[in-house]
Amino acid sequence: MDTSHVLYGFTDLKNLDSHGPIVLNKAKGAYVYDTNGKKYFDGNSGLWNSVVGFDHPKMIATAQKQYQELSGYHSLFGRITEPAINLTNKLIEVSPFDEGKVFFTNSGSEANDTAVKLLWFMNSHKGMPKKRKIITRYNSYHGVTVGAASMTGKPYNDVFGLPLPDFIRSACPHYWKFGNEGESEESFSSRMAQDLEDVIEKEGAETIAGFFAEPVMGAGGVIPPSKDYFKLIQPILKKHNIPLIADEVICGFGRTGNLWGSITYDIKPDMIIASKCITSGFFPLGAVIAGEEITKELIEASYAAEEFPHGFTAGGHPVGCALAVQAIDIIIEEKLVENVRKLEPLFMGGLKKFEDMEFIGEARGIGLMGALEMVQDKKTKKPFDGHMNMGERVANKAIEKGLICRPLGPSIVLCPPFITTPEQIDFMYTTLEETLKEVFNDIKISN
Ligand code: PMP
Repeated sequence: MDTSHVLYGFTDLKNLDSHGPIVLNKAKGAYVYDTNGKKYFDGNSGLWNSVVGFDHPKMIATAQKQYQELSGYHSLFGRITEPAINLTNKLIEVSPFDEGKVFFTNSGSEANDTAVKLLWFMNSHKGMPKKRKIITRYNSYHGVTVGAASMTGKPYNDVFGLPLPDFIRSACPHYWKFGNEGESEESFSSRMAQDLEDVIEKEGAETIAGFFAEPVMGAGGVIPPSKDYFKLIQPILKKHNIPLIADEVICGFGRTGNLWGSITYDIKPDMIIASKCITSGFFPLGAVIAGEEITKELIEASYAAEEFPHGFTAGGHPVGCALAVQAIDIIIEEKLVENVRKLEPLFMGGLKKFEDMEFIGEARGIGLMGALEMVQDKKTKKPFDGHMNMGERVANKAIEKGLICRPLGPSIVLCPPFITTPEQIDFMYTTLEETLKEVFNDIKISN
């Protein structure tokens, strides 16, 4: 097929020129197939999201039924569809909030942008237009729209001249990487909390609209927070009257072994950002779920301003909402969160064993999300030179062997679907071990 008109996102194009793309045309359970009929175990659940099985019959039936009944409609100007109402109720029911409001978007990025605009809207109504700075962490990932990219704490957004003003950073709680020689994990977490407080005090709490955090940093390389990090930072945010927004785009709906990453880490968010598993990859859909306090303020502000002047044409699409209700029901009824928890010892135990290999610096994760970070020198944790493209090399070789895993800088990310079986985890690790041995041998020879 002629792929010359495709503009690929987040793709190493030089590398792609030598390999060519993988063109997919079929999927079954946790497997995808390319146009040559080759079968791959998808160790990345699509992009963290296809967790109930690519061909779940209830999902397909739900989409067919909804397309027949009402194929599409917006949810603005006081119009709403039944599936959108059902999904708002379902989300409040499964959220940590007793009461709240839900706003629909088409993606996680748009949900983050929406949450920022909600905070700005509320603060401006309260006569605090200067309370608009947004704090996120270095290495965090919140999306690609101009707002969400400004929130994302990765250096690659420099090429766009981002972040915009008012988007500021605090430290990344990755103990293995940033802990000082001889520093305990507890002291490290205290230092991270102190860094956040220093940022708040330097900027002025009265200028800060919100702090956004992923319970586990996903696209930053699967970085679970250091011990007690969230326990230490929450009182600081409370003291300074700064809302905590949990970006649950990856963690939400079971990935960490609980329905929310916020449950796993005892986070009490003021607002939740959801997407990805919400439709198990069957439809683009994101949601902002506002808790009790923010809801009260929003209602006041919206009445005063007549409207919340924001909304997407396809936000709250009835097919997407019907699929989301179905996906959440499947996750709950088929006990998929329990399956994540059941598989965790096998998944994490198997991952940890890779730390015995010569170039694996850290194996980390939780639930069914994990990463292996490769280093040139295990003692000093010196990374490989970027030009060696270690992540790409491993992922490309694994793909030849029928395993999809993802390179993220020097790390390899694994996040299999929630329907994964123990046998599939065995396949994943056997294949990855073979792959790593071959790649490590190659680099030793070329050195
Ligand atoms: N937040 C987090 C934590 C994410 O991982 C992502 C996507 N990987 C996003 C936001 C952005 O979501 P989307 O790609 O749907 O815009």
